This record gives sequence, C-alpha cells and structure tokens, in this order.
Amino acid sequence: MKTTARVVVIGGGVVGCSVLYHLTKKGWSDVMLIERDQLTSGSTWHAAGGFHTLNGDPNVAMLQSYTVSLYEELERISGQSCGMHKSPGIMLADTPERMEFLKMTVARGRYLGMETEIISVKEALNYFPFIEEKYFLGALLDPNEGHLDPSGTTYAYAKAARLGGATIEVQTKVESLEQKPDGTWRVITNKGVVECEHVVNAGGLWAREVGRMVGIELPVLAMEHMYLVTDDIPEVEAFNKSAGKEIGHVIDFGAESYLRQEGKGMVLGVYEQAGKPWSTKTTPWSFGQELLQPDLDRIAPSLEIAFKHFPTLENAGIKRVINGPFTFAPDGNPLVGPVQGRTNFWSACGVMAGFSQGGGVGLALSNWMVDGDPGFDIWGMDVARYGDWATRTYTNAKVRENYSRRFRIRFPNEELPAGRPLQTTSLYDTFIAQGAVMGDSWGMETPLWFAPSVAEAQDVVSFHRSNDFPHIKAECKAVREAVGVTEIANFAKYEITGPGAEAWLQSQMTNTLPKIGRLQLCPMLNHQGKIIGDFTIAKAADERFMMWGSSQAQVYHMRWFEQTLPKDGSVAITPYGMKLVGLSIAGPKSRELLQRLTDDDVSGEAFKFMDYREMEVATVRAMVNRVTYTGDLGYEIWVAPEYQRRLYESIMEAGADLGIKNFGMRALLCLRLEKNFGTWFREFRPIYGPFEAGLDRFVKLDKHEYIGKAAAIQEKADGPKKTRIFMVVDALDCDVMGDEPIWVDGKVVGWVTSGGYGHYVDQSLAQGYIPTECFKPDMTLEIEILGERRPAHLQMDPPFDPEAKRMRM
Ligand SMILES: Cc1cc2nc3c(=O)[nH]c(=O)nc-3n(C[C@H](O)[C@H](O)[C@H](O)COP(=O)(O)OP(=O)(O)OC[C@H]3O[C@@H](n4cnc5c(N)ncnc54)[C@H](O)[C@@H]3O)c2cc1C
Repeated sequence: MKTTARVVVIGGGVVGCSVLYHLTKKGWSDVMLIERDQLTSGSTWHAAGGFHTLNGDPNVAMLQSYTVSLYEELERISGQSCGMHKSPGIMLADTPERMEFLKMTVARGRYLGMETEIISVKEALNYFPFIEEKYFLGALLDPNEGHLDPSGTTYAYAKAARLGGATIEVQTKVESLEQKPDGTWRVITNKGVVECEHVVNAGGLWAREVGRMVGIELPVLAMEHMYLVTDDIPEVEAFNKSAGKEIGHVIDFGAESYLRQEGKGMVLGVYEQAGKPWSTKTTPWSFGQELLQPDLDRIAPSLEIAFKHFPTLENAGIKRVINGPFTFAPDGNPLVGPVQGRTNFWSACGVMAGFSQGGGVGLALSNWMVDGDPGFDIWGMDVARYGDWATRTYTNAKVRENYSRRFRIRFPNEELPAGRPLQTTSLYDTFIAQGAVMGDSWGMETPLWFAPSVAEAQDVVSFHRSNDFPHIKAECKAVREAVGVTEIANFAKYEITGPGAEAWLQSQMTNTLPKIGRLQLCPMLNHQGKIIGDFTIAKAADERFMMWGSSQAQVYHMRWFEQTLPKDGSVAITPYGMKLVGLSIAGPKSRELLQRLTDDDVSGEAFKFMDYREMEVATVRAMVNRVTYTGDLGYEIWVAPEYQRRLYESIMEAGADLGIKNFGMRALLCLRLEKNFGTWFREFRPIYGPFEAGLDRFVKLDKHEYIGKAAAIQEKADGPKKTRIFMVVDALDCDVMGDEPIWVDGKVVGWVTSGGYGHYVDQSLAQGYIPTECFKPDMTLEIEILGERRPAHLQMDPPFDPEAKRMRM
C-alpha cells in the first residue's frame, strides 16, 4: 500500500468514487481511496438506482442535472456500463395544492433550462398506464429521469479514476486520523499509515464515525428504506410491446411512493410516515453487504393508497422486498465542503440520492479542493449550514420529519415542528403569551408575526396570501407611523480585537472601515470577486471592532475567517452567538422612546445615522447602532442575554403611549423590501459580483487592498453581466416567494431572488436578476407565479422613502 498521497478519500461508495474521479479530472492524480470492505459495501449496493434532476433548491437541481449528464462520459472513459435506462418521469398531483406545486416546479426549472412540463392525466397514461384517472388532477413530465445499475456506476467512477492515476485500496479500514502540526494528516489503517495533505470523509453509513475520529459530530442519520420488486406483470410487457418503450418513473405524492419498471415487473418504493431510524448512535463496523428485516406493516398505509391509485399492481406478486439504510442530513441535502475548525478535512456525506447527486458532489468538492472554490452556489449542500446546535438527537428528530415529508409540499409560510423549540431567548414565553407565531432561524426561535390572541397564533399554510396578512400589515403600519420593536437576537455577532484587527478586517472588506463610534456596511468577496458576506461593522475602540452578519452563515464565515486570519496571533475573532442578544426599535417615534430610556443625548445631532455608541439603556449596559433594516429611523440595542427581558419590558412600558407594537421577522422582511434592501443568501450570494448586486457604493476600488479587489475591478471594467432589478408585480392573491422565472419581452431570462407584499406601500414587490444585455427601461416584464405569467414593471427607486430621509431624521 502507498504510504503517501495528496488526498485520501475514506469510503468507496458512489460518492467517494465520484470524488476520486473528479479529483483526477481536475489534474490531481496522487489521490487514494480507502475502503473498509469492497466498493459499494455501504448503502450503495442495494440502492434502487433511480435518478432525476428535480430538487426544491434550484442550485442543487443544477448539480443533479450535471450528475445525470455525466453517465455517458463515464461509460465512455471507463468502458464500464452504468446500466442506464433513461425514461421520462412523471409526478402526479392528487390535490389542487400539489398541482400548484408542480406548476411552480416547472416554472422554477425554466431558467435552469429544464425541460419539464405540465401534462394532463390522460397524457400521463402514455408514460405510466396503470393510473386510476379519477384520483389525479395532472402531472409534471420530466424527460431526464431514469435508473441505472448502482454497482456498475460506482465501478465506472472507480475505473475512470484509476485511469486518471488514482489508487484504490479495498479491505482496508481507516482506524483513526491524526493531524500533524503543519496541518497534514496521518491516516491510520489496519494495514499501515498513509500521510496526506487532505482527508475526505465519504464514509456514508459510517460518516459519523469518521467525523468522530476528528472530534466532530456530523448531523447525519441513516433511515431504513423499503422498496418492493414485483413478479412479472403481463400489463407491463403488453405496454412495452404496444408503446415500444419502458414504463416511465412515477412519483405519487398521495401514496408517498415512487415506481418504475424492473424487468417485466415494477419497483415500488415508499417514504412512509412511520419511518424508522437505523443505528441511531453508532453504525456497527460489522455491518456489511446485508439487508434489514422488511416490515411491510410499516408501509402498509402508503401501499393501500398506491394500490388504489394503480389497481393493476394490487394483484401482482412480490418477488422481493429490499430494506436497507441510507443517510440523511436534517434537511435531506448533502453535507459537502471543508469542515470549519479542521484544516484540510472535507465532508462528502449525507448524500441521500447518490445517483442523482453524487456527480455534482464530486464536481463541487474537487473544484473546492483544487481551486479553493466550489465553482457553483452550493449553499444548499454546504456542511457549514449547520452549527453545533444540530446535535445527534436534534438530527434524529429532523431526519425523521424530513423522511416522512419526502413527497410532501413545503408551503412558503410553513414552519416544521420537529426538534423545536431548541434555542430560545428569555423573551420566548413573553412573545408566545402575546400571540407570537414563532419560526426556526438557524435553530433559534424567532417571532414571525403576532396574532391578536394566542388561540389565533397559527399559520394557515398556503401558496397564497394567508391569515397573517392583515396582522403583518398592522405591524408595518405601526413601524412606519409610530414605533415597533422586534427581536434581532438571531443575527450573527463577532468581536474582532488585537493590534492586527484593523489591517486584517480591512483586507477582507470592500468598504473602508468606520472611524471610532461609527458604523459601516461592508460586503466581503472571495478571490473570484463574488459576494460571500455583507456585514455591519462598528469601530468600538482602537484595536476593537464589533461586526454583525447573517446568523445562518456564522459557521460559513468563521470557516473563511480562520483561513485568512494572520497566524501570528495579532487578531482574535470571537463569535458571540447567543451571548449577545438584541432588540431593534424602529419608526418615527423610536428616538423619543430611546431618549426616555437613557440619560445619554440621543438627539439627531448628538447621535447620528450610522453612529455606534456604548451606553446605558433602561439601566442596562448596551451597544447601540443607529441603524435599522426597516429603512426607518431606528436603533439596534445589543445587550447580554440576562438583561434582555429588562430591556424589553422597559421598552414596552416607555413606548405604550407612543403606540409601540411588536413586529416579527415577516414584517421586517417586508419593510426592507419596500426599501429595496438586499438580503444575504437571496440577493447576495457567491454567484453574484458586487456590481451585479448593485453594491457599488460599498465597494472601493481606489483605496485599500482586499481579497477579490482585482476581480471587482475587472467586473467594473467589463461591466456587470447580470443586473439586480426591483419590480412591482401585478399579483392576484399570491406574491412571489423566490426562484420564480422573470420573462423579459416574452422570454425567460432571469429569476426572482425574493419578494412579497409591501404592506405599507400596498404593492406586491419582487427583486431578481436578469442579464444586463436584456435590461431596457421599457422592457416588458412578467413573473410566473404558480404557473401564471403576471405583469410586472421596473421600479427604479424604493417605493418607501426614496430619498432615504427617514433613516437620517
Ligand atoms: C433501499 C435503498 C434504495 C435507494 N434507492 C436510491 C435510488 O433509487 N436513487 C438514489 O440516488 N439513491 C438511492 N438510495 C441511496 C443511495 O444508496 C445513497 O445515496 C448512496 O449509496 C450514498 O453513497 P455513499 O458513497 O455516500 O455511502 P455508502 O454507500 O454508505 O459508502 C460509504 C463507504 O465508506 C466505507 N467506509 C466507511 N468508513 C470507513 C472507514 N473508516 N474506512 C474505510 N472505509 C470506510 C464503507 O465501507 C462504504 O463502502 C437508496 C438507498 C437504499 C438503502
């Protein structure tokens, strides 16, 4: 066995083999895969082998599309058959909501170039002849689906990787991992030690165990999954003969089932409600190529519906039942990328659909390792999207929930209950008692909106405007006309200190840093000049800065900062997490309110827009930012958690005669929309340049040096390829949610990033990107909402306070 390699990939399932192949494709040939047993010995060998391109996250869908397109190349290079059966797939809707979901899915696929379309139930019979028509309303047709041979495909990846110079050691178990002081690794196996620069965890069913070797607990859990293979069904053969093709794939939401042809019979797999986790704490190393005991009772409720929907199958004999485990992350998407706090340790696990996603995971990870960037927007799969709050038992609750919802719709206003409440602030009960509907923000409970009573505090989930509408409107009105208070504890907060703090921070940010006592909005770019963060930074003192950003991106950002911090210890960055919490007061009466709570002078002259000050508020030591995301006069007040209740009660008491009202996250997002403020992960993502995103004011090209500056200069010189636009939509009772296609002069050219109803300005609003070459002030704009193209028009200025006087009052 080789004793050194540039990369060691642990795990020879479809994912590990794909990573290995893609590394060789990128030109890294000194790469090695170590497999404890034989290739495919984890969950790979017993997969049903189905593949498809559809995914709720368009960026993940794109990578799935890449995976599907890869198989021909793989067969050509390796000479090994993947056993491909390409056959169209249909998704069947049995309720109006599921029909709306399908229309939305087709629309979202448009700008990705997907060829999906809505067809009638009659047309669906051309692909799947067993449908009992009366149960269905329509279907989505996806021509790019099929199934393959899981083992053949994995061996094809492996062979192609070997041809590219990779080595593969089977029957070799990685026992432990040791990191050397220089950041390289010692991979200790039962057959000796391999020294390498990078380790990739593609341990599949054992990904947790491999993670534990480096002291981390990855949020993955295996679930048992069953599918049946029927005996031959005469109608299958008859269809094949008469139609001259195979029976297509089917997803039946109502029966929570997928079906496809296998030989002259059918495969029927189920994502049942009573899903069962497997090996909840540790995966036994002794588990090999074996199956689990089938339990047909567990899937009986789904089978009953499936047999009603497809009666021909009811009388078919069952040839075999496969029950095998495979892993999921809490949201069902893979965990990919460098692991924060572990140099050169990479994750390629939690891949629940290895044959739809494995190629994309290999491509993204190999790009990341070789070029330092995944090359796509892979936030939906990034291992950094979870924090250490995603514990083993939290993961268990969420994975079970996700499994049972595999074929369920998630409505835009739908919060999922499993594992909650997890993190709460001291105001949780107070908010609940006032009718708050809470949402999950990176594991933290955050008020979304306030109902008039506790009994009414529930979302009626829908794609359309719902029961929260009038209440959010009232919250927005209170902010715009008097004063509102909202909890902002869920922001990410950091303190940066040390003699090197200023120089380092400046080298990260496109904007110049603020002077002492001032705030500055600072975007951050990667080396390719794409936006990877946007922060509010305060200079608190010499060698001390406070910084606020997106909570969801805290691990993502800390991973980046760890890579760029000077090694000499001259800078320390401390993420505060929930050790610092906050309330924002906003609205024309917010200054009067703040003045009632402090003996500091907070008049407009003494405490200006974008000032930062440490002061006592309601007898509590606080950091106060004169800024708010609502675009009004307002303040963010940050305190230690033990004081938050005191602060809140004082605010409510002092604000009572000013008309103070609670407002939640949904009102906040609506108010920012009326100002056309962008938000992280929607308008600002690593696929956009700063000029494309309209951040020109915050990007200095002639002052200091920072990461991504050369690329930013280039973007400016060439002209941004995309343009962020703001639109007023002629919507009916359904506003945009994000990811809808934008039609310009009758062609789909762009997509919506976010939007909703602007309650104060009484307009349906949307933000999105289109190619700059399509941008014309008089262009005809339409946005496809739930399958209907609605007229929209360009809005150049924010509809609320276009001259930005309110913030500066
Ligand atoms: C019943 C069933 C049906 C399925 N149907 C489909 C389907 O239709 N379509 C689809 O896309 N997916 C399907 N899947 C899921 C699919 O099987 C997985 O997505 C895929 O196998 C994940 O591959 P992997 O490489 O991540 O993990 P695994 O296949 O589990 O591979 C991990 C490998 O790592 C090795 N390993 C772990 N630790 C070590 C160590 N310390 N040292 C050395 N080696 C180690 C293991 O031996 C194993 O071979 C199905 C799964 C099941 C169970």
